[in-house]
Amino acid sequence: MNIISRKPRFVTGLKLKENKKSEHEPIATIPVPGRVIIPMQMHAGAECELIVKKGDTVKTGQVIGEFSSFISAKIHSSITGTVKSVLKTVNPATSTIINAVEIEALHDSEGNRAAEEKTYNDSIIIENPEDFKVFMSETDNASAAELIAKIKDAGIVGLGGAAFPTHIKLSVPEGKKIDTVILNGCECEPYITADHRMMLEYAMQILCGAYIIFKILNPIKVIIAIENNKEDAIRLMADRIRELGLENIFYISALPSKYPMGAEKTLIKNILKRKVPAGSLPLDVGVVVQNVSTAKAIFDAVAFNKPLIERVITVTGGIDKPLNLMIRIGTLVGDLKKYFGTFSDKPHDVIFGGPMTGFSVANMNFPIVKGTGCVLVQEGRKLVEKNCIRCGRCVSVCPMNLMPLMYGIYAKNNKWEECRDYYIDSCIECGSCAYVCPSSIPLVGYIKTGKSVLARK
Ligand code: SF4
Ligand code: SF4
Repeated sequence: MNIISRKPRFVTGLKLKENKKSEHEPIATIPVPGRVIIPMQMHAGAECELIVKKGDTVKTGQVIGEFSSFISAKIHSSITGTVKSVLKTVNPATSTIINAVEIEALHDSEGNRAAEEKTYNDSIIIENPEDFKVFMSETDNASAAELIAKIKDAGIVGLGGAAFPTHIKLSVPEGKKIDTVILNGCECEPYITADHRMMLEYAMQILCGAYIIFKILNPIKVIIAIENNKEDAIRLMADRIRELGLENIFYISALPSKYPMGAEKTLIKNILKRKVPAGSLPLDVGVVVQNVSTAKAIFDAVAFNKPLIERVITVTGGIDKPLNLMIRIGTLVGDLKKYFGTFSDKPHDVIFGGPMTGFSVANMNFPIVKGTGCVLVQEGRKLVEKNCIRCGRCVSVCPMNLMPLMYGIYAKNNKWEECRDYYIDSCIECGSCAYVCPSSIPLVGYIKTGKSVLARK
C-alpha cells in the first residue's frame, strides 16, 4: 500500500482539542436559497468587474464578474434569478469596500419557484471506477493549456481558505519545475470536518481532480497528505488509488495531527524536508499544494464545465446538530440560521472559518463565499483583551519563527510600517499565537488589518 507513515520532527505546533462534532455527518444539501448576495471579490487578487445590471435575468453558472488583472477569478451566479440590486459590502480579508450583487430567484405567475436553468451539464453519469478511468483517458488527450482554461473559466480558487486563483497556481512560470504535488487533506483546525467528509464521499472525484493537476504540471509524484486521526479517509483513498491504477504516481502521507499541519509551508517541511524561504512560494522549491475540495472542483470543471457555484462547509459550535452542508455561494448566514433554527444572531457570535483562523461577522446578511469552509457559532465565555505581559508564549509557538507580540504592540499605535520590520508578510495567519496568549490579545485580527493596510500603501 502506498502509505508513508511519518513521525516528523515538528518543533513548533499545538495539540488542540479537536471538537470534530460533525465528522460522522454525511454531507447534506441545503435547499437552493431564494436570494443570494455575491461579492465581486471572493479570492486573492483584484476585484472582478460586474457585467450584469439590475433587472437582468441570470442562469445558474452564468458569469457575472469578469477580470482583466493577472490575479483574479471569475464569478458566476449561483442561482437562476433576477438581479435585484447592486450594493456595497466589506471584504473581510482586506477590510475594503467592494461591489456585490443581490440575485433573487425567479418565480412563475402563480408564485411558484421557476425551474433552475444551468449553463453546465452535471447530469452526465460518472460513478464507477470504469467511468472514472474513461474520464482520465479523455483527460490524457487534453493539453495543459486547455485544462487550465477550463479551471479559469470555472472561477476556481483554493478552497482551503486562502482562495488563491487556481489557474494562476497551476500556471508555473517558465524555468520552474514542479516535482511534487501535495494534495492537502489535513484538516487540522478544530471543529471543521468538511474536507474529511469530502474525502469519504468524493474520493474518486478528488483523485481525478488530482490527476488533472498531474497532467498539467507533470510532477514525479502526487502525495495526498492526511492526518493519522482520519484512518477511514486514509484507507479509502488508498483503495481508490489502487482501483484507478495510480499507485505508481500517487502516495499517501499519514501525518501526526498537530496544528497547523495543514499550512502549506508546514506540510512541505514535514513531508519533503524542504524549507520555503520567507518571501518565496512553494513552487520555488518545486512543489504545488492544492486542497482536496479544490481538486473536486477541478474535476467538476473539466467533467461538466461546472463553475464554482457551491461548496461544502461545516456548520458547528453552539448549535444542536452540527452538520456538513453542500451550499450555494452567496447564501446568507441569516438563511442558514433559519435552516438550523437555533443560531445566535448577536453580532460577532458567528465566526466564518474555524476558531483559529476565522473572523466574526457583524450581521446576518453576510454571504458564504468561496473561501468559507466553516460557520462556527461561538460557545462558551467571551474573552476580554488585556495588556501584553511579555511572556513570550506567542513567540515560542509560532511555526514561522516570528515575534507576534510586536504586531499587537505596534497595532495599538497604528505603526504598521514597523510590523514590516518584523516580517508580518511571512505570517500564515494560523492563529496559534492568539490561542496561547494569556492576555487574550486578538493577534490575528491585528495581523490581518496590518497586512491589508500595508498592501494598500
Ligand atoms: S504570527 Fe502568524 S504564523 Fe505566527 S503564530 Fe501568529 S498567526 Fe501563526
Ligand atoms: S503571548 Fe500574549 S501576553 Fe505573551 S508575549 Fe505574546 S502577546 Fe504578550
